[in-house]
Amino acid sequence: MPVHVFKCGYANTYLIEEDGSFAAIDVGTFWAAEEIYRYLRSRSTDTASLRMATATHFHIDHIGGMSRLTKLFPGMKVFFYVKVGDYMARKDKICLFSFFSWIRDLRPALISCDDHGKNLPAALKSDWAGTPIPLLRTHLLSIPEVFCTLDGDRPMPYLRNWKLIKTPGHTNDSICLYNPIEKTLISGDTILNMEGSGELNRFCCDQDSIKESFKALSLLNIERIYPGHGETLSNIEGLGAVLRYI
Ligand SMILES: [Zn+2]
Ligand SMILES: [Zn+2]
Repeated sequence: MPVHVFKCGYANTYLIEEDGSFAAIDVGTFWAAEEIYRYLRSRSTDTASLRMATATHFHIDHIGGMSRLTKLFPGMKVFFYVKVGDYMARKDKICLFSFFSWIRDLRPALISCDDHGKNLPAALKSDWAGTPIPLLRTHLLSIPEVFCTLDGDRPMPYLRNWKLIKTPGHTNDSICLYNPIEKTLISGDTILNMEGSGELNRFCCDQDSIKESFKALSLLNIERIYPGHGETLSNIEGLGAVLRYI
């Protein structure tokens, strides 16, 4: 059950292959959508093999390629976590970061990223839904038809070996995807690897919640982490490798 990694924007995109079909996670740019299309065509795989797409949270760098993906794969379904349904129904708003947090926690990550020449144009040409800025966050919600039904209490559609883990903190709709058989975690922006050995994200709407989320994750048997940003963490023994910032 491989997880294929695509680096086509600020966030990582993952393509889970399971039982001959595929699920796309965090398609952050039109570029990521087109690379998935190219990859599946190169394997002579029918476009119907991409069954579903989802995101670890409703931020622009994780969902900006969704409308391009739905055009390329018309038979695919987009599923989001139930909290995203509250944004779309305007019952809730995407949480905002404090000004202090933008300066202290996001700026170092942007400085350490050396691929702005490719990433920024790709982001600007993609959907702007999920922009965590006042005014924009309430106006830029429109992406193609989605099913906001994912919940930790229900099985994941088309991903029978994966579980949804609720991990609020970075945002209140943050989730991770966990495969207990492969001992693998797709961690979104809850656990990052911008510094080489993994770290709990400091850029958060709620610092207390992310620490609680980390405690819940640390009970899981994890050997590999696919973070939202940075390289894959392999051969780790639990989350001891990412204890910093607790
Ligand atoms: Zn991100
Ligand atoms: Zn984020």
